[in-house]
Amino acid sequence: MTAAAAPIRSAPPYVPILMYHEIATAADTKSHLAVPPDNFAAQLEYLHGAGYQTITFTAAARALAGAGQLPERAVVLTFDDGYADFHREALPLLDKYGFTATVFVTTGWIDDAGKYAAGPALGPMLSWSQIRELAAAGVEIGAHSHGHPQLDQIPARQLRDELNTPKDLLEEGIGAPVPSVAYPFGYSNAGVRQAVRAAGYQHACAVANATARPGADEFAVPRLTVRASTRPQTFERVVRGGQESTIYLKDHALTKGYALVRRTKAVIGGISRSA
Ligand SMILES: [Zn+2]
Repeated sequence: MTAAAAPIRSAPPYVPILMYHEIATAADTKSHLAVPPDNFAAQLEYLHGAGYQTITFTAAARALAGAGQLPERAVVLTFDDGYADFHREALPLLDKYGFTATVFVTTGWIDDAGKYAAGPALGPMLSWSQIRELAAAGVEIGAHSHGHPQLDQIPARQLRDELNTPKDLLEEGIGAPVPSVAYPFGYSNAGVRQAVRAAGYQHACAVANATARPGADEFAVPRLTVRASTRPQTFERVVRGGQESTIYLKDHALTKGYALVRRTKAVIGGISRSA
């Protein structure tokens, strides 16, 4: 080595990984997770004005694992399920600000899934040509299972299919590797995470409503929910980090309760996998 080693810039302590679903008005959907287009536009304007740089989920997961650096003010925009409104509402705004995103697609719900259809989908979904267009525009395409089951509640064989099928279909469809998966509903357990690894994924994201920090489990990277009711002030606090315990107080309490019920159900159902 001749050149002096580049100075190591200390990584920021965290990266907010935001989780979106639909970008739609209350008139278009009943989902309380749907963020109205105007709110979404204001959120991107805030991020841009505050000097944030967007990176893909994969870039963030790699950096958190020590295999890359995070920009000074990094933020990740993720979108679950593969709603068609991402193409219509989000893509033009991302383009405007030079932002990128990661879309986790439920492959059985793709609008023209054909013989692979595993519906009914929750709403109008992206088509294959739109997914290819997104990939070509630099949007990361990740998997979100094939039929959107609760992955911690299904038999091992079905679990393998739910992980392998979307990986194969998406890699074939966009002609690029698909290293990321997001758990439907955010549900996983040790067995699910092991199956994800075995299926060849390199990282996975959960929900958790916590900010991702270096050393986080690469197969359960936490994300932060943005929903219809997320006000501008709250959004800024979410992105700034460190206040999740108050912002997501209710979500955390619910998650704890559900986790107990889910473990019990899995054990009673005889599909518990050893931790
Ligand atoms: Zn989902």
